[in-house]
Amino acid sequence: MPMFVDTSPPGQCIFCRLVAGEIPSATVYEDDHTIAFMDIGQVTPGHVLVATKRHAATLFDTTPAEAAAVMQTARRVALAVRATFDPAGLTLLQANGAEGGQTVGHVHMHVVPRHADDGITFTWPRQEPPAEVLAGYAQRLRAAL
Ligand code: AMP
Ligand code: ZN
Repeated sequence: MPMFVDTSPPGQCIFCRLVAGEIPSATVYEDDHTIAFMDIGQVTPGHVLVATKRHAATLFDTTPAEAAAVMQTARRVALAVRATFDPAGLTLLQANGAEGGQTVGHVHMHVVPRHADDGITFTWPRQEPPAEVLAGYAQRLRAAL
């Protein structure tokens, strides 16, 4: 599993510095809550990151308005990516914590154009537990909401 590569405090992490214009970025879009810019890794051409402007380490640290704004910007960018790069598909990915696949500790969403045989692999080990187990999980989550 990847480790965080950047656990700098608010204002000093890579994406805070990018928001502040202290390091360069190929910016696509900005609004009050979010900034969208080209991912330097470009897993496929047109790969964009949508980050909060305020430093929030993970989804759990966002406000509801910030979380909504990230998704709205991701949708807007996805439409532009579709119009520009004409991908066969598109994947949104938002990782939290090293075990969740996060490497930059400032919340962000990947907008990734997808193509047949683009080399992206994703293992998803299905468990398919019985219905009563699902009902138990749902009951616990309802109690936590
Ligand atoms: P994640 O693994 O979800 O935390 O993704 C972090 C992403 O940030 C990676 O895909 C990196 O390529 C990308 N990244 C790191 N530094 C920069 C930067 N300065 N500008 C643009 N993208 C970056
Ligand atoms: Zn930050």
